[in-house]
Amino acid sequence: MARIFSGIQPSGELHIGNYLGAVKNWVTLQHTAESIFCIVDYHAITGSYKPDLLRARRRDMALGLLAAGIDPAVSTLFVQSDVPEHTELAWIFNSVTPLGELERQTQFKDKSQRMESVNAGILTYPILQAADILLYRADRVPVGEDQLQHLELSRVIARRWNAEFARDDDFFPEPQPVLTPTRRIMGLDGQAKMSKSMGNTIGLLESPEEIWSKLRPAVTDPKRIKKTDPGTPEVCNIYHLHKAFSPPATVEHVAVQCSTAGWGCIDCKKVLAESMESELVPIRARAAALRDDTAGVDGALAAGADRCRTLARETMRGVRERMGFD
Ligand code: ADP
Repeated sequence: MARIFSGIQPSGELHIGNYLGAVKNWVTLQHTAESIFCIVDYHAITGSYKPDLLRARRRDMALGLLAAGIDPAVSTLFVQSDVPEHTELAWIFNSVTPLGELERQTQFKDKSQRMESVNAGILTYPILQAADILLYRADRVPVGEDQLQHLELSRVIARRWNAEFARDDDFFPEPQPVLTPTRRIMGLDGQAKMSKSMGNTIGLLESPEEIWSKLRPAVTDPKRIKKTDPGTPEVCNIYHLHKAFSPPATVEHVAVQCSTAGWGCIDCKKVLAESMESELVPIRARAAALRDDTAGVDGALAAGADRCRTLARETMRGVRERMGFD
């Protein structure tokens, strides 16, 4: 059976970019493959942060994922820092990772340009990510498009380590990405990908009122100035969100109404808000129930960590043997 691994940072709220690009796929895939999902808190400390906030966000992220449909009865959900082998394997992978490969990662270039002082964790982040995946010898990784380059580097690392230490049995598989049809969701500013660090998100658990207050001013087709101007759906972020949330007949109707100036952008956004509600209402209801069951959330994470510690120890035994640390 294939093994799936994927992770998400607890650096802020679970947003619809995470949901449509990755988490929705996790929910489906958990029934088709052995699935391990990780809240990657060590990845969330490369920028400045408050320890208390990290504690709260870790639990909030677990609650959000469970509410989105991750079922701890069929998949494993755990927190990265509960399994120390992640950082041990990352150190080992440091020694087979070419520096040039790290320096040319787009996310490193983007992030480091925005920071006044750049710490080494920003550069070596994809090594820890490779360790996260390969520690469980996962072969499939459901992620959004922004992670493809990092995943390619995970494959390079697996290949290099195997070539050096496991010529006979290719100990680490080369992990392949699994994308959704909505592999890249843009932020409401229409400028950059929707991301926790950009402040351009819609939270999966936000109320209808909060969602509308964000959708209402959201950027649409920049060439459509007046309601009577015909729009171009393909260049409009709201239309792309329709494709993710609305039934096909509505998506078709929206395209016609936009391109013939039948609807204004606000009309179109109102229909989107309704479509989003259909998908988000059950998620919000599950989240409300989970808020009253913190022991249940903590219990799922503890059971997940127990299982992952066993798997991680087993992998590290193989790594240690092959590298002369036994
Ligand atoms: P963020 O960029 O908001 O900090 P993470 O880095 O924790 O999110 O990513 C968690 C998962 O969500 C990854 O698989 C990532 O590819 C996916 N993802 C994040 N933002 C988007 C987006 N705007 N569109 C599609 N997928 C996304």
